Amino acid sequence: MSKERVVIAGAGHAGGTVAAMLRQYGFEGSIVLIGEEPIAPYQRPPLSKAWLKGEADAESLMLRPESWYAEGQVDLRLSTRVEAIDRAARTVTLSDGSSLPYDNLVLATGARARRLPVPGADADHVGVLRSAADAEWLKHRLGPGRRLAVIGGGYVGLEAAASARALGAEAVIVEREARVLARVAGPVLSDYFQSRHEARGVSFELSAEVTAIEPNGVRLADGRLIAADTVLVGIGAYADTELAQAAGLECADGVVVDLDARTSDPAIFAVGDMTHRPLPLYGRSARLESVPSALEQAKQAASAICGRPRPADEVPWFWSDQYELKLQIAGLAWDCDTLVERGDGAADSFALFHLKDGVVRAVEAVNAAPEFMGGRQLIGRQIAVDPTRLADASVPMKALLAGQG
Ligand SMILES: Cc1cc2nc3c(=O)[nH]c(=O)nc-3n(C[C@H](O)[C@H](O)[C@H](O)COP(=O)(O)OP(=O)(O)OC[C@H]3O[C@@H](n4cnc5c(N)ncnc54)[C@H](O)[C@@H]3O)c2cc1C
Repeated sequence: MSKERVVIAGAGHAGGTVAAMLRQYGFEGSIVLIGEEPIAPYQRPPLSKAWLKGEADAESLMLRPESWYAEGQVDLRLSTRVEAIDRAARTVTLSDGSSLPYDNLVLATGARARRLPVPGADADHVGVLRSAADAEWLKHRLGPGRRLAVIGGGYVGLEAAASARALGAEAVIVEREARVLARVAGPVLSDYFQSRHEARGVSFELSAEVTAIEPNGVRLADGRLIAADTVLVGIGAYADTELAQAAGLECADGVVVDLDARTSDPAIFAVGDMTHRPLPLYGRSARLESVPSALEQAKQAASAICGRPRPADEVPWFWSDQYELKLQIAGLAWDCDTLVERGDGAADSFALFHLKDGVVRAVEAVNAAPEFMGGRQLIGRQIAVDPTRLADASVPMKALLAGQG
């Protein structure tokens, strides 16, 4: 193993973690980590939260200090793209024209923000929020006297609106669906977050179709102009599978991988936002965009490359911070038949449990860490609970976990 070379394409959260896990697991071969962005691997979540509000500096975004790469003997090549994969020759071609052999290749190219196909969408006052450069652009445009229109009421859009308010800017959310978070949460959570944003002065245009972006705002299909000097397009992201597809790897919505994060080519792994991954607890596969999923897959790939046992399956989870509200979600609310509410929405501390056949499949917890942690364990253990006791906040989560549910 010591003479092997692992090439990692994409120096984001997943790619950077694969490099670190390989060294942690004792991999002694060479590691080349190639990233098209000009900065070492960093965390994206603060870009719409603490960093955007000015509560975190650039240093705190970094996944590891820059010195770690030299110390860990990771050959980090920034501002460099992997342009093509030759699977037969086991080489990649880089944007500087060179080619690099690999024994194992790890694809970690992440996702790209969707653009809005309407006139005016490429103007200077319109942007997306995916990279540190995007966040820098946005931050300079927020402050008292400014007005931000966010197209898309997903997590990134809602977080950006909350940060804009914290910086003194006005904010309006323009959403095509009848409620925010429509793709990722149920109506109870959607209504709750909308009400909390409204209480902070954010306005909403729901069921609103954008037809154009103009210098002074966003034009809707009903003819109205929603005034704004900055427009953030937050309509989701798509898996960056360009390289993988060109190399003939199996792709669905993302590169198809197994529980070792291995693609249809045994020498090539894929991790993070770009993958279509198995979710054994749910008997399905899907693409997840979350840091915990990227970390789990980085562990899977590094373990397989180092010949270690496959790590235990994890319950998927995610978080979002808006104002003083900490939302933590575990599991996936697919095909559920029962919704159990626990806690007090009015007091901004509650949890929504989604059950199927009496078993908790997902929990959405707002300022309710015990419910999140207990819910996550209930999901993993797949034990049936009594919905009445689950709804009763005086019954400790521990009792439910102990099977006294
Ligand atoms: C604003 C924002 C807020 C978020 N908040 C949360 C949150 O609160 N909680 C949470 O769990 N998740 C959050 N996420 C999602 C989380 O950041 C992603 O799931 C995570 O970054 C995925 O890591 P990744 O390495 O797969 O992709 P990325 O971090 O996107 O990294 C991919 C990297 O590969 C590079 N690349 C692409 N193609 C090539 C190529 N051909 N050659 C070289 N390099 C290439 C890209 O430039 C990029 O740097 C958020 C994301 C955003 C954008």
